[in-house]
Amino acid sequence: MERKNNYPMEIFRSVFENSVEAKWIIKNDRIIFCNKLGYELFDFSSEEEIIGKSVWDLSPEMQANGINSKSKGLRYLVKAANYEKPRFEWLHRKADGKIFESDVVLSRFDFEDGIFVLATLRDIGEKRNMQVELIKAKEKAEKNAQLKTQFLANMSHDIRNPLNAILGFSKILADEADLTISDRNKYGGLIESNGNKLLNLISDIIDVSLIEANQMHIENKRCEVNSILEELYLSFQKKVDQRVNLRLKLNIAVDDPNFAIFSDPMRLRQILSNLIENAIKYTKQGFVEFGYELVDDKSIQFFVKDSGIGIAPEHVEDIFKRFTRESTEEPDGIRGTGLGLDISKRLVNLLGGKIWVFSTLNIGSEFYFNLPAVFLDYKPKLKKTISQNKPLTTHDVDWSDKHILIAEDDIINYELLRIILGKTKVKVSQAVNGREALNALEKDASIDLLLLDIQMPVMNGYEAIQEIRKLKPSLPVIAQTAVNLENTERVNYDELFDDCLSKPIDVKTLIQKIQKQFSKL
Ligand code: ADP
Repeated sequence: MERKNNYPMEIFRSVFENSVEAKWIIKNDRIIFCNKLGYELFDFSSEEEIIGKSVWDLSPEMQANGINSKSKGLRYLVKAANYEKPRFEWLHRKADGKIFESDVVLSRFDFEDGIFVLATLRDIGEKRNMQVELIKAKEKAEKNAQLKTQFLANMSHDIRNPLNAILGFSKILADEADLTISDRNKYGGLIESNGNKLLNLISDIIDVSLIEANQMHIENKRCEVNSILEELYLSFQKKVDQRVNLRLKLNIAVDDPNFAIFSDPMRLRQILSNLIENAIKYTKQGFVEFGYELVDDKSIQFFVKDSGIGIAPEHVEDIFKRFTRESTEEPDGIRGTGLGLDISKRLVNLLGGKIWVFSTLNIGSEFYFNLPAVFLDYKPKLKKTISQNKPLTTHDVDWSDKHILIAEDDIINYELLRIILGKTKVKVSQAVNGREALNALEKDASIDLLLLDIQMPVMNGYEAIQEIRKLKPSLPVIAQTAVNLENTERVNYDELFDDCLSKPIDVKTLIQKIQKQFSKL
């Protein structure tokens, strides 16, 4: 008889122990029984370690929505006591403090006048991660599909237009016998330029396919850097000459026509050409400057800078991706396929280098790439210059020996700059207008750089800079402005200030621009 009574109890215990879900039996808010999974899920090694603990001991203080675990959990325990069977997601804490997400069901049962709650718990962290991964993959696939559709639409436009022009003007030339010489030349020119457009597009598509198939052949031979750059200068000069308000500048670091490195001249020309082409395309007025600097004795750093439309911080990372254009709308009729930077990046990588960009919206962009270089017949004399392969952050620099004066009347903007710059250990002081900035510069010789806001009361940035240049001609001054700079003003900016930043300030650009000035000191 006794055995008969014990037998079912053992079965129930065994069912409880061997359940494939973690189970606790809770009395009030304490765990009084638990199965193997019930302690293993929490990384405890035996049930003794968990029994007697309150359920709050195994939860973080707050749940995901910021509500206190205890007050939220008590509500579920009360519901369970009320014969409801609440099911909810809960953040739990493992033995080592690690938080994980679980799915919990509570149900009440009564035994010998006591009220007990059975808790069944399931770790859903992995499921959740999988869901997140799936969502990410879905979004990526959708984005790719959308980019491809956009690309095909552009491509069809970019192929049809020049083809139409070529066919149309060829027909006119063939059919109309009495065309004037000037018209003939004009139509001939249009056929040629449209033919070139088409050729460039086809070369881009072929390059993408070659790179994709790992078939892009890279040469390694004598590469006369200066002559490549001068050739590019001459060919782009023609294009820039047609634009009254645009200047093309070339900046060569080594004044020796035979200066050469070991690389692939054709690919180097192609990368620079892509970047210069873009710089001209995205700059209405101001300048496009390209050249190179010797950063160390193993690499050469090329750059293409412009005073153009710039790139919004949120798009900077994406522009090197295939088919990606900052804007699909083309208010200024600036067309493109989004292939140029993708090809350039891949070519730079194939040549063993890296490419990166600093850009400020409405101020301009600076594209850099470095290539490993064996200098042929040349021992580089190194210029002290910026040498980052990656954008700087506040953690990369230590400016504890520097002092920056911030001329800014808006206290919130000043605080923001002070907090950002505080991480670099730089000493920061404030002037609330141009007049105060001048006074501070007069009194304090330790100031290494001025961040000058343009719109300020009493004496604005434009007025202040005139006086500052007289007082401290070599002090680096970076202008900061909240207005979208009109092109005419932007040209002025290049002449007045060492550099400029537009608000909202992008931290990386800010640090980079200041570092650039400091490295010249
Ligand atoms: P696209 O054919 O569209 O010019 P790219 O791959 O060359 O393709 O460039 C990708 C995107 O990067 C451009 O659509 C543009 O939004 C942005 N971009 C590239 N160069 C510049 C630049 N110098 N100034 C501003 N934006 C640029």
